[in-house]
Amino acid sequence: MDVNPTHGPLYIGDIEIRWLQGGFFHLDGGTMFGPVPKVLWQRRYAVDNDNLIPMCNDPLLVRTGDMNVLIDTGIGNKLNEKLRAIYKVTSSWDVPAQLIAAGLTRHDIDLVLLTHCDFDHAGGILMLTEEGEKELTFPEALHIIHKREWEDVKNPNSRAESTYLPENFDLLETSGRLELVEGETTLCPGITVFHSGGHTRGHQVVEIQSLESTAIHLGDLCPTHAHLNPLWVMAYDNFPLDVIARKEEYLKKYREKDSWFTFYHDPFVRACKLAADGTLTKTW
Ligand SMILES: [Zn+2]
Repeated sequence: MDVNPTHGPLYIGDIEIRWLQGGFFHLDGGTMFGPVPKVLWQRRYAVDNDNLIPMCNDPLLVRTGDMNVLIDTGIGNKLNEKLRAIYKVTSSWDVPAQLIAAGLTRHDIDLVLLTHCDFDHAGGILMLTEEGEKELTFPEALHIIHKREWEDVKNPNSRAESTYLPENFDLLETSGRLELVEGETTLCPGITVFHSGGHTRGHQVVEIQSLESTAIHLGDLCPTHAHLNPLWVMAYDNFPLDVIARKEEYLKKYREKDSWFTFYHDPFVRACKLAADGTLTKTW
């Protein structure tokens, strides 16, 4: 399977979705497929001799016509050399330049939706400028985070400490650009977030709807197309039984609507549609 060469947008009715380059890294396949035997997952996802699998961290730029919305922010440009080596970062976060290529600047983003606050999703909230100053990457945007997720960012348990990095949030907290939400919230016409939990306590998913078309972004409940089987959870999932229950629920609901399922970490399949038996009927 090749890295998806598609650079064109996916349309959901009148809404346009593009994937921006948020940093490419490599994670251990065992942790990414948790309880699944390697003999099964290696048929579905590329793996190298060090048991590492390739993954992008690509924010979705969602343009409704009135609003420019970003789902998650990529790994950012603040990772030190040690972390870049640990995660084998092979291509850097390039979101501001990619926005310019799409005809926008980082000042044109109206909303940043965080599915959750792990560093690979929240690392681009704050960026280092060429002068080495740290600032909000999207200074005009309202940043939407679930209230429970924010509680865990402020008071992480020992497992979360290494991923809820304070350097990704310190300026956001005092900026007036943070909005905490609970439950189901429609943020603008066509874009709704729901609390899911599962991967983290405050994880949320995003529904995109326009005309008769729908897309569902399950964030890290379903990081790649190889995780569509509800039982294929990650060792990184904090509440795996909740991941399984939510995936079963959302897969049924959105498959029946003939929705697109979109992915953040999958460089091979950006989005897909599913048949009732779970096979991929369309890919993007
Ligand atoms: Zn992730």
